[in-house]
Amino acid sequence: MGVFYVTTPIYYPNAEPHIGHAYTTIMADVTARWRRLCGDDVFFLTGTDEHGLKLQKTAEERGIDPKSFVDQMSEVFKRYWSILGISYDRFIRTTDEDHVQAVRKALMKMYSKGLIYKGVYRGWYCTSCEAFYGPGEYIEEGGRKLCPSHRKPLELMEEETYFFKLSQFEDYVREQLSKDIVHPRGYAREVLSKIEREGLRDLSITRPKTRVYWGIEAPWDPNHTVYVWIDALLNYVSALGYPDNTSRLEKYWSVAHHFIGKDILWFHTAVWFAVLAAIDLPPPRKVIVHAFITLQGLKISKSVGNVVTIDALLQRYGNPDVVRYLLMRFSSLDKDVEFSAEQLDAAYNTELADTFGNLVRRVGVLAKKKLDGVVTRDRVDPELETSVRRAVDRAASALNSFRFSEALIAIFDVFREANAYLNRTEPWRSDSPNESLYNALECIRIGTSLLSPFMPRVAENLARSLGFEIGPFEALRMGAGEEYRVSEAPILFKKIRGGSAS
Ligand SMILES: [Zn+2]
Repeated sequence: MGVFYVTTPIYYPNAEPHIGHAYTTIMADVTARWRRLCGDDVFFLTGTDEHGLKLQKTAEERGIDPKSFVDQMSEVFKRYWSILGISYDRFIRTTDEDHVQAVRKALMKMYSKGLIYKGVYRGWYCTSCEAFYGPGEYIEEGGRKLCPSHRKPLELMEEETYFFKLSQFEDYVREQLSKDIVHPRGYAREVLSKIEREGLRDLSITRPKTRVYWGIEAPWDPNHTVYVWIDALLNYVSALGYPDNTSRLEKYWSVAHHFIGKDILWFHTAVWFAVLAAIDLPPPRKVIVHAFITLQGLKISKSVGNVVTIDALLQRYGNPDVVRYLLMRFSSLDKDVEFSAEQLDAAYNTELADTFGNLVRRVGVLAKKKLDGVVTRDRVDPELETSVRRAVDRAASALNSFRFSEALIAIFDVFREANAYLNRTEPWRSDSPNESLYNALECIRIGTSLLSPFMPRVAENLARSLGFEIGPFEALRMGAGEEYRVSEAPILFKKIRGGSAS
């Protein structure tokens, strides 16, 4: 039994969460639930990043004060996470008082160590990113300098600022990047080669309050607010009680696992590792980086072609667990994935409705009809046992290394084996098919338990209908289940035909 700490980035609540937010958050949630299934003591953190110029401006445009705006928007995020079954232990908001105090104390520590100095920053700035871009970072088009992510003109800006001596940590950061922290490894090489090209430059970490008032005040100079990235990164330790409440920090920090998208890799490695070192904390255990997904061909409201809303997916499949399943089924850490409505529908129909749904339905119906719903422990089929054990091992090892799609394929092999076994043993021809149904139910129990991190509500409901318990991991072997009391034979997934399910 271990201890495990898993985080998502805290999201910028200037708009509703989109499928990208859901993607990262579901990965983290699957991992949290998987570790709990293995018996770990898990702390799962998510939240919202509520300061900075962009929010200040959005709130101004809407004619409300920033705090009321983020109060509303953080509720929107919570509502989506509740619909999607995200089992976080804390939803941190960077406007939370304990976080604000932690940021001030962390920065004061850096300041008193001489790691922060006053200077002037001059550079090309994107107001949407709240970031300056140097040569090689911005896009040049027709003599104009454009933001690499927003593709809109940058403004030349000069202002008084405080710098963090990031350059002092270059050797340290390189050393950490050569360890097994960033996963997959290719992303560590990306950061290393950026450092190779440009070195680690000191980082401007405050903004004049006259421009950005919506932020945490720098503890040594009330005319400055803390740069939103530094504020945000510190949430990973403030949520654990840094710096005053050390028991949680001591328990969980050494096993921190950050899930992030590849667009925020630099801040979560080079900058974050250095900030942690500056406040005398070691780097996280793992930074798990994923590539992007785009979904094509799903009908969505207005504007931009490939933006699919969470609502659109929820509507189409009528079940949040299905959305979780499909996003993880096609997930990839290292490669960008583009998939279509047809692909999603096909996976839904063949895997969920046919392989899993039909198995459950026919076993349930037979158990009720032939055995009054009571199926007791019986001889375990040795061939089936071997293939199930292999699939369980594969699923566990995939989950332990964040290969979610592979894990799902292995889990569905358990269901496929059960279907093949039923076709072999033909329990519908027998008057007392206890042995055959017991073996099939064992497969359903094991497969469903492994599936529960991905489809928690489907798994719980099914366990109730068939009368078994989910997990724990040690019990996921053939013959461990004692008895089934099948109360209903549910139809889990209705097939989708062009329109929508349910
Ligand atoms: Zn930008």
